[in-house]
Amino acid sequence: ACHTSLISEKTETSAKLYEKACEVIPGGVTANIKYFDPHPLIMEKGKGSKLYDADGNEYIDYLLCYGALILGHGHPEVFHAVEKQLRDAGTTIFGTPHQLEMTMAHKLIDLYPGIDMVRYTNSGLEATLLAVRTAMAYTGKPKLAKFEGHYHGGYDQVLLSVNPDMDQAGDANLPNTVPESKGIPDYYVENTIILPFNDLDATEQILRAHAHELAGVILEPIQGGFIPADREFMKGLRKITEELGIILIFDEVKTGFRLSLGGAQKVYDIKPDLTALGKVLGGGFPVGAIGGKKEIMMISAPNGGKDILTAGADNTDQELGLYHSGTYNGHPTILAAGLATIERLEQPGTMEQLFSSTKTLRNQLEEVYHTHGIDMQTVGMGSIFNIIMTKEPIKNYRDMGHADMKLRKAIDYELLKLGIYTKPLNRYSMSIVHSEEDISRTVEAHDQALKLVRR
Ligand code: PLP
Repeated sequence: ACHTSLISEKTETSAKLYEKACEVIPGGVTANIKYFDPHPLIMEKGKGSKLYDADGNEYIDYLLCYGALILGHGHPEVFHAVEKQLRDAGTTIFGTPHQLEMTMAHKLIDLYPGIDMVRYTNSGLEATLLAVRTAMAYTGKPKLAKFEGHYHGGYDQVLLSVNPDMDQAGDANLPNTVPESKGIPDYYVENTIILPFNDLDATEQILRAHAHELAGVILEPIQGGFIPADREFMKGLRKITEELGIILIFDEVKTGFRLSLGGAQKVYDIKPDLTALGKVLGGGFPVGAIGGKKEIMMISAPNGGKDILTAGADNTDQELGLYHSGTYNGHPTILAAGLATIERLEQPGTMEQLFSSTKTLRNQLEEVYHTHGIDMQTVGMGSIFNIIMTKEPIKNYRDMGHADMKLRKAIDYELLKLGIYTKPLNRYSMSIVHSEEDISRTVEAHDQALKLVRR
């Protein structure tokens, strides 16, 4: 990190600023994922589908803040909603309950089959954390199961086997629990069980063996936002968890509003017990939410959900419930941005158009790569996909080992020089404002990049 070579002669200012950042910010980045070699690009402006860096270079943005900006940068309806909320409220935040919390809750209850009640958090990480704690509190059981390769935020209980080193990862049918950071106490390694994604038989065996101690299973219905769960796998997982009394948690932080307005659960027609949301929900501001079955969600009410209306939270005979708090939870300005985003997506034809332009881009990219004789496929569902350099089927984390990452990385660096932005090796997210022209420019840039790397 922090050395001086350039991505191109046009990124000198970014490189210089990055060096300065390294003096005051470890590694020059405020999230490890934002770093890439030799220096990340320092962005200064966004507009629609475009990002502009400190050197004034324009990029068509496919990172879209890791999928959050489904309306693109600076959508006027979001800006308007935020300005109106600030003006009407006369303050940024009340620090008390307010009506937008209810408006958004009704919206989520209407859209998501698995959501009867809602609580807000400040990030997707906090939403999955609260969902896991809720499962533990509700069942009284001590362990969690998660899938290999699935990301739910960077905390002790789940920062395990996200990108495990294959030397440590163990048998594909019975993966080891591999910590992904220093500082994770052994307790969490011992109490988190890793499951093989899209392998129903192996998953069932592990779940049955640990049913007595498993509070919940958490998964990304679409791993990393691009590897879909098989429908039969999903159905089977729902059936087994129900039978074994294990809470099924859908982490829809990425799939929420992206796979459909009702997330993956709507598309798969599966009701999870708990759902975590984030990203799109905040309209580009930090937010998260958890929703779920009333009976389970009520455990986080003051007094553990018992007699709250008659006895009140000040009742001296308090039960120990589930503690959930946060200074900024249910932030009105952010909920206004989120509601404006959802309302824009609800306009007739919007999601269809988004899916159709994603499909067009995917098809045209596949065509270009195949013309160049490269084994490549796009993998994804809805409005997110990834470019995978292999024709082998991709069903889980381990299958990604078949892909030619070196070639993909080389292309991604050429693309940066050609004004196409996603972090090298990252997936592609689409927005409703990516135009036909953006798509054809992107496809042409890939064609150009392929010529350059294969010269
Ligand atoms: N869950 C999933 C599936 C995610 O993709 C992410 C973020 O990328 C998170 C949880 C964590 O959300 P946040 O970064 O808002 O804390």
